[in-house]
Amino acid sequence: MLSFWEKNSLISYHHIIIGAGITGLSTACELKERFPDQSVLVLERGILPSGASTKNAGFACIGSLSEKVADAKLMGKENLIQLVINRYEGLQLLRKRLGDEAIGFESYGGYELIFHEQEKDFLNQLEEVNTWFRPYFTKDIFSKQTHKISHFGFDANRVETLVCNEVEGQVDTGRMMASLWSYAQQLDVKIICGAEVTQIDERNDAVHVLLNNMEFLAQKIYLCTNAFTQSLFPNIELKPGRGMVLATAPIPNLKIKGIFFFDDGYYYFKNFEQRIIFGGGRNLDMQGEETTNFGLNPKIQAQLHQYLKEVILPNTHYTIEHEWSGIMAFGSDKTVCLKKISDRQFMGVRLNGMGVALGSKLAADLVNLSLTSTI
Ligand SMILES: Cc1cc2nc3c(=O)[nH]c(=O)nc-3n(C[C@H](O)[C@H](O)[C@H](O)COP(=O)(O)OP(=O)(O)OC[C@H]3O[C@@H](n4cnc5c(N)ncnc54)[C@H](O)[C@@H]3O)c2cc1C
Repeated sequence: MLSFWEKNSLISYHHIIIGAGITGLSTACELKERFPDQSVLVLERGILPSGASTKNAGFACIGSLSEKVADAKLMGKENLIQLVINRYEGLQLLRKRLGDEAIGFESYGGYELIFHEQEKDFLNQLEEVNTWFRPYFTKDIFSKQTHKISHFGFDANRVETLVCNEVEGQVDTGRMMASLWSYAQQLDVKIICGAEVTQIDERNDAVHVLLNNMEFLAQKIYLCTNAFTQSLFPNIELKPGRGMVLATAPIPNLKIKGIFFFDDGYYYFKNFEQRIIFGGGRNLDMQGEETTNFGLNPKIQAQLHQYLKEVILPNTHYTIEHEWSGIMAFGSDKTVCLKKISDRQFMGVRLNGMGVALGSKLAADLVNLSLTSTI
């Protein structure tokens, strides 16, 4: 039973955000930055944010050349260019909001490993893809850099060339989320964890947000639940996709610096200080990984271990210190789902595995969308 005081001061808000990942917390910050006098509550089902934002590999990325060529076929060149611009702008918003130090931002470039035996028609489009992005970046972003194969310690019998993307960066995922959390609290955003929303009920006066035995009220709500959205909106077009990541112990004299992709971006690795962070392999078992349950798939785990030994760190002694998984959300192409459900309900989900760069931009777009309502 709620007290008079609770009802008076702790239950009703101008804005309630569901989900405390990068999109949800950024939406909360965006609202408070623009409307400091309005109250903002974030409800998060986990004790910590429990989706993708605290689990990812921390690539703050535009993506690889092969991915760009494949995406242009899938979604059309114009949509792809807009998506890349959104990713880049999202990253700039994140850097501006928190500062490079607070997110551990570093920019050593990105490299796609091209193996001798792989199909490489996409390389013929390198010049053309550069022309797509030249008006925005005012320079060519992709270039072949074969001389760096030995510089990074890769086996030249395996790796034929490297395609560099010089606008790539990386963040310290944990530091970024901790900083975003602190910043939101500085802005007086209230965050309640262990609060799984089970029902949303819009009435004339407000949106009623139901948890187990509680009900919060908001003038407007924002769904930032990414892969888990179907538990509240079953018809949303979205598939969950689990991703696995591992981290090695520090490796003395590690040569690898930057972010790296191979196999059409399905595998990705980077240096984090003196460690290797390596993830991917979802394409080995797409059906099995279409799940919202956390866990390690032994087949994918074995493949990651093999690539780590044979491709990334040949002739190097290392140990694997951590392995974990997180859950992403995918659609039929790579467009995010930014949606006005009603004048009081807004949704920003389905970040297609790119949310580090996109999350802040989606949050800004979500707040802009909410301003189109008549309430
Ligand atoms: C293994 C892995 C590697 C990745 N690597 C990268 C990368 O290198 N670069 C990149 O850009 N992106 C990467 N991503 C993707 C990126 O992490 C996501 O796109 C991004 O974090 C999505 O943020 P979000 O806030 O929208 O969703 P999430 O971080 O998933 O947040 C959604 C939140 O909603 C909460 N929630 C769900 N349902 C409810 C409910 N009913 N009530 C209350 N709370 C609820 C969840 O617990 C969760 O905390 C990776 C993802 C994974 C899993």
